[in-house]
Amino acid sequence: MSETLGFIGLGNMGAPMAGRILAAGYSLSVFDVRADAVAALVVLGAKAAASPAAVASEAEIIIVSLPTPDIVKQVALGPDGAVMGHKIRTLVDLSTSGPDMARELSAALADRDIAFVEAPVSGGVAGARNGTLAVMVSCPAPQFVALHDTLETIGKVFHVSTEPGLGQTMKLVNNLLTAAAMAISSEAMAMGVKAGLDPSIMLDVINAGSGRNSATQDKFPRAILPRSFDFGFTTGLMQKDVGLYLRQAEKLGVPTELAAAVGVLWQTALAQFGPDSDFTNLAKCIEQRAGVEIKPHYPPGSESGEPTDG
Ligand code: NAD
Repeated sequence: MSETLGFIGLGNMGAPMAGRILAAGYSLSVFDVRADAVAALVVLGAKAAASPAAVASEAEIIIVSLPTPDIVKQVALGPDGAVMGHKIRTLVDLSTSGPDMARELSAALADRDIAFVEAPVSGGVAGARNGTLAVMVSCPAPQFVALHDTLETIGKVFHVSTEPGLGQTMKLVNNLLTAAAMAISSEAMAMGVKAGLDPSIMLDVINAGSGRNSATQDKFPRAILPRSFDFGFTTGLMQKDVGLYLRQAEKLGVPTELAAAVGVLWQTALAQFGPDSDFTNLAKCIEQRAGVEIKPHYPPGSESGEPTDG
């Protein structure tokens, strides 16, 4: 019989990660507050559970992928939380829930003889679908060894530390860079477009040169130039990540002038587009203030066709 794992939180990231774990041959007990998200996994062979506690009565290893630190805490320790299950031995948190929550959960679960493993991920929905995420694990070595093959089904696994909080710290460092790349690339692209450059040509040049980054290589070509704004990560979650980063940097006494400016821009995007909007909408904040749209002069696929803006 195949090993049964628990999986809680079947959203943009959780659903494809759970799908990959199922496809690798594990049995899966799943829970999400959205019935449709559970139903989609049941179609793939997962078994639906009625609560986090019910999931944790089906499996020793429970994996969660949840939006915020508070929700992770509630799902882990709440009245119907995973700790109320009678099988759970290890809780693996793939969410971006910050170093403070990782330390709190690590201590609270240790009191109940449950191991806590933080394993935040990077690489977006495409990485979750393709199993190419970067997985930033912090936990003692024996747990890392025990979980390695399971986590390898979703991506490249790094044992970044044995200290609680440092897997999350690694993730915040990574995501500040993602957030900053989106912000500064939006400003630079808007400047070039307003001066008269075609953004398609700009991206070709930047991505062959030294300015390339995750926004110019991925977000602009896939979701901003096509005007689809559907990359699969929300403005609310990006703002959460920048906020968690700023809190840690301030606590550590590390300068935050640039990170704070990036944070202000994400606050603006949050106020304007709301937490559920796709995070690529940030470019629109810059576009509106610049009075330009970052869209190609010619429609995709046409070599010398009609300009899109007439
Ligand atoms: P999401 O909002 O799409 O998914 C979260 C899921 O959790 C939803 O299905 C929601 O219904 C469920 N949920 C909420 N409260 C719950 C509860 N109390 N019990 C059970 N389920 C509950 O978010 P996402 O984009 O999948 O992100 C999940 C985590 O991964 C976040 O911490 C995010 O910061 C991180 N992350 C996201 C991306 C990305 O590109 N989307 C990349 C890396 C990391």
